[in-house]
Amino acid sequence: MTYYSTRPMRREKIMNCQCGEVMGEQCEWSGPVAEMVMVEWMPYQHRDSHVAARNRGTYPLNGAIRIAVERSCADRIEAEEGAEWFRRLEV
Ligand SMILES: [Zn+2]
Repeated sequence: MTYYSTRPMRREKIMNCQCGEVMGEQCEWSGPVAEMVMVEWMPYQHRDSHVAARNRGTYPLNGAIRIAVERSCADRIEAEEGAEWFRRLEV
């Protein structure tokens, strides 16, 4: 009897880090989804209107993007972008 086909494989799936979407330069990291975090980031072109409206809005209507990045890349983006335009999603 084999269980392979029904076993949940999602967290073992290998993915590339998507930090290039934010940083403009793609890192080399690829690995299991379990070592990544989902983050939400606000592109620069949407920031002024949110500041003007004094309201960040909610995803996806606010124009934010969601990407999966490796943990150290999440730290790097947070340091660069600041907590106002970047947050980690608990998944
Ligand atoms: Zn990365």
